[in-house]
Amino acid sequence: MDSPQVVADIREAVRSRARSATDVCRDALARVAALNPALNAFNTVVTDRAIARAEAIDRDPDRWRDAPLAGVPVAIKDNLCTRGVRTTASSRMLEHYSPPYDATTVARLESAGAIVIGKTNCDEFAMGSSNENSAFGPVRNPWALDRIPGGTSGGSAAAVAARIIPLALGSDTGGSIRQPSAMCGVVGLKPTYGRVSRYGLIAHASSLDQVGPIATRVRDAAVALGVIAGGDGADATTASEAVPDYGSALTGNVRGTRIGVPRRLLEQGVDPDVARAFFAALDVLASRGATLTDVELPHARYAIPVYYLVSTAEASSNLARYDGVRYGFRAKGSREDGPARAARADGDEASLQAMYGRTRACGFGPEVKRRIMLGTYVLSAGYYDAYYLKAQQVRTLILRDYEQAFDCERGVDAIAMPTSPVPAFKIGERVDDPLQMYLADVFTVSANLTGLPAISVPCGFSAGTLPIGLQLTGRRFDEPSLLRLADAYERDTEWWKQQPPIA
Ligand code: GLN
Repeated sequence: MDSPQVVADIREAVRSRARSATDVCRDALARVAALNPALNAFNTVVTDRAIARAEAIDRDPDRWRDAPLAGVPVAIKDNLCTRGVRTTASSRMLEHYSPPYDATTVARLESAGAIVIGKTNCDEFAMGSSNENSAFGPVRNPWALDRIPGGTSGGSAAAVAARIIPLALGSDTGGSIRQPSAMCGVVGLKPTYGRVSRYGLIAHASSLDQVGPIATRVRDAAVALGVIAGGDGADATTASEAVPDYGSALTGNVRGTRIGVPRRLLEQGVDPDVARAFFAALDVLASRGATLTDVELPHARYAIPVYYLVSTAEASSNLARYDGVRYGFRAKGSREDGPARAARADGDEASLQAMYGRTRACGFGPEVKRRIMLGTYVLSAGYYDAYYLKAQQVRTLILRDYEQAFDCERGVDAIAMPTSPVPAFKIGERVDDPLQMYLADVFTVSANLTGLPAISVPCGFSAGTLPIGLQLTGRRFDEPSLLRLADAYERDTEWWKQQPPIA
């Protein structure tokens, strides 16, 4: 089995006909078959569909000659709709849901020549930090199978880390692309809010959600972003800003680029190995000519409570649609249901409510229920002002902190933090303690609350085996600077080349 490495190599091999797209695709499928039993990274593998598409590329090489992803096998997080292919959001609620349309990001990848080989496991409705909330079982970290891969795009990150595919899509509401990328030793990018269409993304929290790439290296993430970014008539929240050529931003030259370091924020709760790797990474960037400056983000310490108020409020509203009527799952009738169901046909409201209740009780897992209850509470009359409104006000203060750091005199071009305060923890270690679980997001949620772009790039290992990620947050629509910095760092380090033992 040849292990697919990087996007450019695969595309070149397919273009020059050194390898057929079908051959590349079969390799990826063979790797899924070999590795997925241990990783549980895929909910669905679309063997026949993938091979048929690869054969179509091989049959018509002229048409695909300039396609940026011609013949590149990819995986799609299972909360992005794929026409005719089961899209579950890792929930019983959507276990048999087959969407009648493609997410814009999926359609754009396929128009660029990518071959979707399957749908990746994630936390249910993208709620979690460890991928343990999937209705289909946890994903395992390819670097240590008894550990979590991070969440919620854990399947996508694990599949890229295990070199099953060189590129996957994830979604990021509070860190779900960046945190699993860090914990699996791959690159993950959350674009600016509005940069990438969410049409066909199963909504979690609509003012925070973004779709983005996970890849083995920065260059590939840049190619993928170029393909998926840009306005979309089907998503009114997309921006019309022109999409730059992200590849040309990767000059290796970061001389004079100013990186802000919020030292005070990092004083507590950061694992010593993570702190060491983080500061060593800053030294690498400094030795390339970037300058380091201290910045203050005084309100960032409120980011976790603000995030878990805003996101649960929005989630409780977004998830109201799963009622047993409009989507697949409906709780099977129990004995008392016979008359209740008959009554429903007569328009009996109480029994309709009972059906909703049973469907939601059986269809959603415990974390999703916790979020719906919390979100409903913070939006309820009497508490709205105290919680939801207050959270939105503090959200504005967090945004102002970032704007101040970027736009003041001698403002910085990027702000650096570790992606996660800790490396991957053991499966089961935090499941009974939601607060501990939420704290894993302490450095990632601010980028969602502010809408700013952020990237995670591998920057070392803890205890020799567990990957650590460096996070860089940038100005709105300044993905080019983030990619340039991350790529420059990658050029001077070998972390991205390390492969987990299982690969
Ligand atoms: N861990 C965060 C949450 O549980 C982030 C989830 C995400 O980004 N989808 O909400």
